[in-house]
This record gives sequence, structure tokens and C-alpha cells, in this order.
Amino acid sequence: MGIAEGKRALIVGVANDKSLAWAIAQELHTQGAEIALTYQGEILEKRVRPLAESIGAPVIGELDVTKDDQIAAVFAKIKELWGGLDMMVHAIAFADREDLRDRFLNVNRANFARAMDISAYSLVAMARAAEPLMESRGGGSIVTLTYIGAVRAIPNYNVMGVAKAALEACVRYLALDLGSKNIRVNALSAAPARTLASSAIRDYHTMSHEVEERSPLKRAMRPEEAGKMASVLLSDLSSGVTGQTVYVDMGFSIVGG
Ligand code: NAP
Repeated sequence: MGIAEGKRALIVGVANDKSLAWAIAQELHTQGAEIALTYQGEILEKRVRPLAESIGAPVIGELDVTKDDQIAAVFAKIKELWGGLDMMVHAIAFADREDLRDRFLNVNRANFARAMDISAYSLVAMARAAEPLMESRGGGSIVTLTYIGAVRAIPNYNVMGVAKAALEACVRYLALDLGSKNIRVNALSAAPARTLASSAIRDYHTMSHEVEERSPLKRAMRPEEAGKMASVLLSDLSSGVTGQTVYVDMGFSIVGG
């Protein structure tokens, strides 16, 4: 029996088959969960639908996290479909491509606010909408994705690092607010993986090679390793863990020098 048997999971952030959210969806499916996906925009719907079909997951609608009405509609659909929710994956981030290169201090007010809104505030808005659905199931687990650029100044990661720092702080405050309802909130800090989002970062290759060269395990992360750890954090196997940032980075974050 899988560790997610009988559980229902909403996964937000599948753009294509390289998305870390897709690696999580596949592992959760293998572990027995029922899954629902969302999409953003017509082109992505075309990419997400066949993936969803391959794991028997309904695509429950469009979700642009900057739109409160779309957040409300997605959670209303989940309520209608399942009556409650056990697991939620937030795997979304955005920064303007021009801010993922050169100097951090050039970021303008509007781009800073937009990166924060989509990459950090959206977790708060989604957790608030998930709360009653998880409460009705006696608790739940929420996982978001972050990167070591939250706690170290990584060249070119820039405003996204600041947004990830906010995201990790949101995880701790949400964990505090929701703990009494047996709802856990954790962040998974993944090593670099080639996806649509990471391709926007200048010199992504250097970030990736550093892990291969300097991490204790001396290799890149396999996306399925993020999928497996997220499944543990989402399942009852991690029932005593909340408010944490857990690294799936081949040990890169412990190395000095
Ligand atoms: P991805 O496949 O490009 O996924 C990013 C997702 O964010 C896409 O589905 C994207 O949709 C979505 N998104 C952006 N703006 C949105 C909005 N306003 N509303 C709803 N969704 C929106 O890339 P990924 O690397 O798997 O990223 C998933 C998460 O992992 C992100 O939080 C990222 O920061 C994190 N992460 C990635 C790495 C890495 O190296 N890849 C490492 C550590 C952490 P659109 O394509 O429509 O914009």
C-alpha cells in the first residue's frame, strides 16, 4: 500500500513534463493519491491535459494565482469534487527575465512586487482557501518549493532569492497558524533542475554544475528525488514535521568554502 493511499491532492504548477510539480504528481500517483491539476493559459492547458490524463487526474480549471476569483473557483471545484482536501502542492514562481541577470539592485518597484505576489503571497492565499477543506478531513499537508538562493546570495537569482526568503518565512507563519488544525506546511528546497522557470535565469548552468562538482553526492538532482521527498512531507510519514525547509540538494547546502 502506498503512503498516499486514500488521500486527495491539489497540485499547482505543472507547466510540462519537466516541471518539478509533475515529478511530485507522478510520485504521489504511484503512492496511491488521487490528484487534481490546474493550468495557466490556453497553451499550457494543451500541455497539462495529456499529462493529467496519464495519471487519471482531472484538470479542474485555470489558476493564475494573482487572481482571487480564480483561486476561489478552484477551491470551490475541489469542494464539489471531493468535499475536502488532504494535500496541496504550491510549485509556482515568477520574476521578470530581465531581473534574473546582472545586478539585484536594479529591480524596479513593480517587478519586485510582482515577484513577491506570485512567488510568496500566493502560498498564503492558497493556504487560506485550503484551510476549511483540510480541516474537514481532520488535517492536511502543504508543500511549497524553494531554492537555496533564499538564504545565500546566488549570482543572477536576485529578486527571486528575496521572494524565496519571504516564501520560507510564510511557511513558518502558516505552520504556526494552521498547526492547531493538524495542517502542516513545509518547504522543499530543491537543487537546480532544467525547467521552463530555471531557463529564465542567466548562467543557470553554473548553478547546476556547482552542485555536481561540490556537493557531497557529486551529481545533479533527479527530479523524481524531489517527487519522493515531497510525497513524504505530504504524507503521514512526516506527521511531526512542520514549518521546515527540507533540502533535496545532494547535500550542497552543508558544504563550506
Ligand atoms: P516550471 O515547470 O516552469 O513551473 C513553474 C510554474 O509556475 C509554471 O507552471 C508556471 O506557469 C507557474 N506560474 C508562474 N506564474 C504563475 C501565476 N501567476 N499563476 C499560476 N502559476 C504561475 O518550473 P519549476 O522549476 O518546476 O518550478 C516550480 C517551483 O520549483 C518554483 O517555485 C521554482 O522556483 C521551484 N524551484 C525550481 C528549481 C529549479 O532549478 N527548477 C529549484 C528549486 C526550486 P506559467 O508557465 O504559465 O508561467
